[in-house]
Amino acid sequence: MPSTLIKNCSWLVTQNRNRDVLRDCSIMIRDGKILQVGKVSQSADAEIDGAGKIALPGLINTHTHLSMVLLRGYADDMQLQDWLQKKIWPAESRLTAEACYQGALLGCAEMIMSGTTTFMDMYLHMEDVARAVNESGLRGLLSYGIIDLFDAAKAKAEQEKTQKFFEYVRDLGSPRIQFAVGPHAPYTCSPETLQWAKEFAEKNAVIDHIHIAETRKEQADFQKQHGMRVVEYLDKIGALSNRMLAAHCVWLTKSEVATLGKVGASVAHCPVSNMKLASGGVAPLPEMFESGIAVGLGTDGAASNNSLDMFETMKICALLHKAHRWDPTILNAQKTLDLATIDGARALGLQDEVGSIEPGKKGDIIMLDTQLPNLNPLHGDDTIISDLVYSASPANVNTTIVDGQILMANKQLKTINLAQIIQNASRIATQLVHA
Ligand SMILES: [Zn+2]
Repeated sequence: MPSTLIKNCSWLVTQNRNRDVLRDCSIMIRDGKILQVGKVSQSADAEIDGAGKIALPGLINTHTHLSMVLLRGYADDMQLQDWLQKKIWPAESRLTAEACYQGALLGCAEMIMSGTTTFMDMYLHMEDVARAVNESGLRGLLSYGIIDLFDAAKAKAEQEKTQKFFEYVRDLGSPRIQFAVGPHAPYTCSPETLQWAKEFAEKNAVIDHIHIAETRKEQADFQKQHGMRVVEYLDKIGALSNRMLAAHCVWLTKSEVATLGKVGASVAHCPVSNMKLASGGVAPLPEMFESGIAVGLGTDGAASNNSLDMFETMKICALLHKAHRWDPTILNAQKTLDLATIDGARALGLQDEVGSIEPGKKGDIIMLDTQLPNLNPLHGDDTIISDLVYSASPANVNTTIVDGQILMANKQLKTINLAQIIQNASRIATQLVHA
């Protein structure tokens, strides 16, 4: 693989252990990895001018349903059950492999253009999603969403689909694509399937991705049916582990948070989706931090967001917790940026590979253009992190690099064809919602 030199970045936000912000320095990437950060004298096969730019580790989206971009804006401002039953589920029942492929490409284009380089997905027709992600050059952890509805025959079929997808990813042999097991939720999967998923994850050293406690109703139903709360139930049936990545976790007690912390589970916090669907609760982030839980940020699917914009997610996340706790210091800009970078990497078990710009890590870097009104004036090193969290937007994302490969330069996509993707996605979306 050729080497790439990012030359003389005006700012370099490392997200390393000291959270160093460097001025006027360069980054050398070779064989997909960061070789050197600082003053670089060698030349490289490709050079990128960093003048007027902020280099930042690529953002990490720890929970999405990529192909749902096809349903963006299709059903908004509705009650959750109406939304699912009248709009989302009927449209999803018409999803084909080709639809998921085209939707995934559209999602990949949106992520590359908004600065996301790594993401965790859960959906259907995952072989086709994997194909799209592989073409795009992004780094993806992909799970097939298992729903058995407490039916043993369906559970067996879902396990077989998961096994088949596991083999597909293995045979694909992409260094950027990882398999994850994906039991949808404790209310859509039998205890046997949840236990099977945990064992599958342990045996194959992969993530066990699930939705937990997204609504108050979920907790009320578990209390009624099992006489205990959701995390207590998962603990009792032996489904929890340090390989679990739980999306949402909006309605948790302190004791449930402590249980997740004790087993070493991670959380994908999706503030925009939770607010849009009016889930009511707010994920107890400060308590999660206290319990040592690795927390990352997620957009959730575009049907409940409606974008895959991690800059927007960072800002809304910080604002939500400030408003909720009546405390502007509860989640500062640095910690919020951590959630979208190095903490997200930890939640995905990738902290040794991505999430910061340091020698030895993967060359997953984005560059933001400071020569736009929303990033001016830049007051100095003390405010650059605030500028990134509260002012920056995808409009500033100029260059996106994953594994040392340039996926976008000067706002031009290099691996996939945007005009073609938009045309195909529009055609398929019309078939989905008007069938
Ligand atoms: Zn979700």
